[in-house]
Amino acid sequence: MIGILGGTFDPIHYGHLRAALELKELFELEHVRLIPCAQPVHRDSPTASALQRLEMLQLATQNQTDLIVDAQELQRAGGSYTFDTLTALRRDYPETSLLSFIGSDAFNEFTTWFRWQELFDLAHIVVITRPNTALNPLDNFFKTRLTDDRQILKQELAGRLFFQEITQLAISATTIRTLIAAQKNPRFLLPDAVLDYLSHHQLYQR
Ligand code: ATP
Repeated sequence: MIGILGGTFDPIHYGHLRAALELKELFELEHVRLIPCAQPVHRDSPTASALQRLEMLQLATQNQTDLIVDAQELQRAGGSYTFDTLTALRRDYPETSLLSFIGSDAFNEFTTWFRWQELFDLAHIVVITRPNTALNPLDNFFKTRLTDDRQILKQELAGRLFFQEITQLAISATTIRTLIAAQKNPRFLLPDAVLDYLSHHQLYQR
Protein backbone atom coordinates (compact mmCIF):
# COMPACT_ATOMS: atom_id res chain seq x y z
CA MET A 1 0.00 0.00 0.00
CA ILE A 2 1.15 3.49 -0.84
CA GLY A 3 -0.06 6.68 0.84
CA ILE A 4 -0.51 10.00 -0.92
CA LEU A 5 -0.46 13.34 0.86
CA GLY A 6 -0.96 16.33 -1.40
CA GLY A 7 -0.70 19.92 -0.30
CA THR A 8 0.67 23.34 -0.96
CA PHE A 9 3.58 22.85 1.43
CA ASP A 10 4.20 26.60 1.62
CA PRO A 11 6.34 25.66 3.57
CA ILE A 12 6.47 22.00 4.70
CA HIS A 13 6.47 21.76 8.52
CA TYR A 14 6.51 19.21 11.34
CA GLY A 15 2.69 18.93 11.25
CA HIS A 16 2.92 17.44 7.74
CA LEU A 17 5.97 15.31 8.49
CA ARG A 18 4.66 13.89 11.74
CA ALA A 19 1.27 13.10 10.15
CA ALA A 20 2.93 11.40 7.16
CA LEU A 21 5.08 9.20 9.39
CA GLU A 22 2.20 8.33 11.72
CA LEU A 23 0.01 7.35 8.74
CA LYS A 24 2.80 5.31 7.22
CA GLU A 25 3.10 3.28 10.41
CA LEU A 26 -0.64 2.99 11.12
CA PHE A 27 -1.44 1.60 7.66
CA GLU A 28 1.88 -0.25 7.27
CA LEU A 29 2.56 1.57 4.01
CA GLU A 30 5.53 1.01 1.72
CA HIS A 31 5.92 4.77 1.59
CA VAL A 32 4.01 8.05 1.67
CA ARG A 33 4.29 10.30 -1.35
CA LEU A 34 4.28 14.01 -0.59
CA ILE A 35 2.92 15.75 -3.67
CA PRO A 36 3.13 19.54 -3.88
CA CYS A 37 0.46 21.13 -6.07
CA ALA A 38 1.41 23.53 -8.85
CA GLN A 39 -1.56 25.81 -9.01
CA PRO A 40 -4.04 24.89 -6.27
CA VAL A 41 -7.58 24.67 -7.60
CA HIS A 42 -9.35 25.44 -4.32
CA ARG A 43 -7.26 28.21 -2.76
CA ASP A 44 -5.04 31.26 -3.37
CA SER A 45 -1.65 30.97 -5.02
CA PRO A 46 1.25 29.96 -2.78
CA THR A 47 3.83 32.55 -1.72
CA ALA A 48 6.94 30.47 -2.44
CA SER A 49 7.51 29.35 -6.04
CA ALA A 50 6.82 25.77 -7.07
CA LEU A 51 10.55 25.07 -7.27
CA GLN A 52 11.15 26.52 -3.80
CA ARG A 53 8.33 24.46 -2.25
CA LEU A 54 9.76 21.38 -3.94
CA GLU A 55 13.31 22.08 -2.72
CA MET A 56 12.03 22.57 0.84
CA LEU A 57 10.23 19.22 0.68
CA GLN A 58 13.45 17.58 -0.51
CA LEU A 59 15.43 19.14 2.34
CA ALA A 60 12.82 18.09 4.90
CA THR A 61 12.80 14.44 3.80
CA GLN A 62 16.44 13.89 2.85
CA ASN A 63 17.12 11.22 5.48
CA GLN A 64 13.65 9.67 5.50
CA THR A 65 13.40 7.03 2.79
CA ASP A 66 9.75 6.18 3.51
CA LEU A 67 8.66 9.73 2.65
CA ILE A 68 9.00 10.30 -1.09
CA VAL A 69 8.68 13.68 -2.77
CA ASP A 70 6.71 13.38 -6.00
CA ALA A 71 6.94 16.40 -8.32
CA GLN A 72 4.44 15.20 -10.93
CA GLU A 73 1.95 18.04 -10.38
CA LEU A 74 4.69 20.60 -10.90
CA GLN A 75 5.67 18.96 -14.16
CA ARG A 76 2.12 19.04 -15.55
CA ALA A 77 0.80 22.19 -17.18
CA GLY A 78 -2.22 23.94 -15.68
CA GLY A 79 -4.16 23.34 -12.47
CA SER A 80 -3.42 20.42 -10.15
CA TYR A 81 -6.25 17.92 -10.08
CA THR A 82 -6.25 14.94 -7.75
CA PHE A 83 -7.93 13.00 -10.55
CA ASP A 84 -4.87 13.39 -12.84
CA THR A 85 -2.45 12.56 -10.04
CA LEU A 86 -4.26 9.39 -8.97
CA THR A 87 -4.68 8.33 -12.60
CA ALA A 88 -0.91 8.57 -13.09
CA LEU A 89 -0.17 6.68 -9.86
CA ARG A 90 -2.69 3.97 -10.71
CA ARG A 91 -0.86 3.51 -14.03
CA ASP A 92 2.53 3.34 -12.27
CA TYR A 93 1.28 0.98 -9.52
CA PRO A 94 -1.39 -1.24 -11.13
CA GLU A 95 -1.25 -3.90 -8.39
CA THR A 96 -0.95 -1.74 -5.26
CA SER A 97 -3.65 -0.23 -3.09
CA LEU A 98 -3.44 3.52 -3.00
CA LEU A 99 -4.55 5.55 0.01
CA SER A 100 -5.27 9.16 -0.77
CA PHE A 101 -5.17 11.17 2.47
CA ILE A 102 -7.28 14.28 2.75
CA GLY A 103 -7.99 16.61 5.64
CA SER A 104 -11.52 16.67 7.05
CA ASP A 105 -11.97 20.32 5.96
CA ALA A 106 -11.16 19.32 2.41
CA PHE A 107 -13.46 16.32 2.66
CA ASN A 108 -16.39 18.57 3.50
CA GLU A 109 -15.88 20.16 0.03
CA PHE A 110 -15.06 16.87 -1.67
CA THR A 111 -18.14 16.73 -3.92
CA THR A 112 -16.97 19.93 -5.65
CA TRP A 113 -13.71 18.27 -6.78
CA PHE A 114 -13.13 17.46 -10.46
CA ARG A 115 -14.50 13.94 -11.22
CA TRP A 116 -14.72 13.24 -7.49
CA GLN A 117 -16.75 10.03 -7.82
CA GLU A 118 -14.15 8.51 -10.12
CA LEU A 119 -11.44 9.10 -7.53
CA PHE A 120 -12.83 6.00 -5.81
CA ASP A 121 -12.05 3.94 -8.94
CA LEU A 122 -8.41 4.92 -8.52
CA ALA A 123 -7.74 4.93 -4.76
CA HIS A 124 -9.19 4.59 -1.29
CA ILE A 125 -9.98 7.93 0.31
CA VAL A 126 -8.73 8.26 3.88
CA VAL A 127 -10.02 11.31 5.72
CA ILE A 128 -7.65 12.51 8.42
CA THR A 129 -9.58 13.79 11.41
CA ARG A 130 -8.70 15.41 14.68
CA PRO A 131 -10.36 14.14 17.84
CA ASN A 132 -13.99 15.41 17.96
CA THR A 133 -14.03 16.76 14.39
CA ALA A 134 -17.51 17.66 13.17
CA LEU A 135 -18.26 16.13 9.79
CA ASN A 136 -21.16 16.66 7.45
CA PRO A 137 -23.55 13.68 7.35
CA LEU A 138 -22.60 11.12 4.70
CA ASP A 139 -24.89 10.46 1.77
CA ASN A 140 -25.44 7.02 0.26
CA PHE A 141 -22.57 7.26 -2.20
CA PHE A 142 -20.17 7.53 0.73
CA LYS A 143 -22.03 5.25 3.12
CA THR A 144 -21.78 2.28 0.77
CA ARG A 145 -18.00 2.77 0.54
CA LEU A 146 -17.36 3.35 4.23
CA THR A 147 -15.25 0.82 6.11
CA ASP A 148 -13.45 0.73 9.45
CA ASP A 149 -11.43 -2.35 8.54
CA ARG A 150 -7.80 -1.66 7.57
CA GLN A 151 -7.47 -5.18 6.12
CA ILE A 152 -10.04 -4.35 3.44
CA LEU A 153 -7.94 -1.39 2.36
CA LYS A 154 -5.08 -3.79 1.84
CA GLN A 155 -7.11 -6.45 0.03
CA GLU A 156 -8.84 -4.08 -2.40
CA LEU A 157 -6.95 -1.66 -4.63
CA ALA A 158 -9.38 1.25 -4.41
CA GLY A 159 -12.98 2.22 -3.70
CA ARG A 160 -13.29 2.56 0.08
CA LEU A 161 -13.78 5.49 2.41
CA PHE A 162 -12.00 5.38 5.76
CA PHE A 163 -11.81 7.89 8.61
CA GLN A 164 -8.56 7.99 10.55
CA GLU A 165 -8.07 10.05 13.68
CA ILE A 166 -4.50 11.25 14.19
CA THR A 167 -2.79 13.56 16.62
CA GLN A 168 -2.35 16.67 14.51
CA LEU A 169 0.28 19.05 15.82
CA ALA A 170 -1.06 22.60 16.09
CA ILE A 171 1.23 23.87 13.31
CA SER A 172 0.17 25.41 10.03
CA ALA A 173 2.09 26.93 7.15
CA THR A 174 0.03 30.09 7.65
CA THR A 175 1.37 30.42 11.21
CA ILE A 176 4.95 30.06 9.97
CA ARG A 177 4.47 32.68 7.23
CA THR A 178 2.85 35.05 9.72
CA LEU A 179 5.65 34.62 12.28
CA ILE A 180 8.31 35.37 9.67
CA ALA A 181 6.45 38.43 8.38
CA ALA A 182 6.34 39.66 12.00
CA GLN A 183 10.11 39.04 12.31
CA LYS A 184 9.58 36.26 14.83
CA ASN A 185 11.44 32.97 14.83
CA PRO A 186 9.48 29.87 13.65
CA ARG A 187 12.23 27.50 14.77
CA PHE A 188 11.08 24.09 16.15
CA LEU A 189 7.92 24.20 13.98
CA LEU A 190 9.80 22.96 10.92
CA PRO A 191 13.15 21.30 10.16
CA ASP A 192 16.26 23.46 10.56
CA ALA A 193 17.29 22.73 6.96
CA VAL A 194 14.00 24.26 5.75
CA LEU A 195 14.40 27.20 8.10
CA ASP A 196 17.89 27.87 6.70
CA TYR A 197 16.46 27.70 3.19
CA LEU A 198 13.78 30.25 4.13
CA SER A 199 16.36 32.67 5.51
CA HIS A 200 18.67 32.22 2.56
CA HIS A 201 15.90 32.93 0.06
CA GLN A 202 14.30 35.59 2.27
CA LEU A 203 10.96 33.89 1.95
CA TYR A 204 7.78 35.21 3.60
CA GLN A 205 9.48 38.37 4.82
CA ARG A 206 7.39 41.44 4.37
P1 ATP B 1 -1.84 26.67 5.12
O1 ATP B 1 -1.69 27.13 6.54
O2 ATP B 1 -1.05 27.46 4.12
O3 ATP B 1 -3.28 26.49 4.71
P2 ATP B 1 -1.20 23.91 5.86
O4 ATP B 1 -0.22 24.01 6.96
O5 ATP B 1 -2.62 23.54 6.22
O6 ATP B 1 -1.16 25.23 4.99
P3 ATP B 1 -1.16 22.31 3.42
O7 ATP B 1 0.00 22.29 2.49
O8 ATP B 1 -2.37 23.01 3.00
O9 ATP B 1 -0.61 22.89 4.84
O10 ATP B 1 -1.51 20.84 3.92
C1 ATP B 1 -1.27 19.67 3.20
C2 ATP B 1 -1.95 18.52 3.89
O11 ATP B 1 -1.42 18.34 5.21
C3 ATP B 1 -3.45 18.71 4.09
O12 ATP B 1 -4.07 17.47 3.84
C4 ATP B 1 -3.60 19.11 5.52
O13 ATP B 1 -4.85 18.67 6.05
C5 ATP B 1 -2.44 18.38 6.18
N1 ATP B 1 -1.94 19.11 7.34
C6 ATP B 1 -1.63 20.40 7.43
N2 ATP B 1 -1.19 20.74 8.66
C7 ATP B 1 -1.24 19.61 9.39
C8 ATP B 1 -0.93 19.28 10.77
N3 ATP B 1 -0.50 20.20 11.62
N4 ATP B 1 -1.09 17.99 11.15
C9 ATP B 1 -1.53 17.07 10.28
N5 ATP B 1 -1.85 17.30 8.99
C10 ATP B 1 -1.70 18.55 8.54
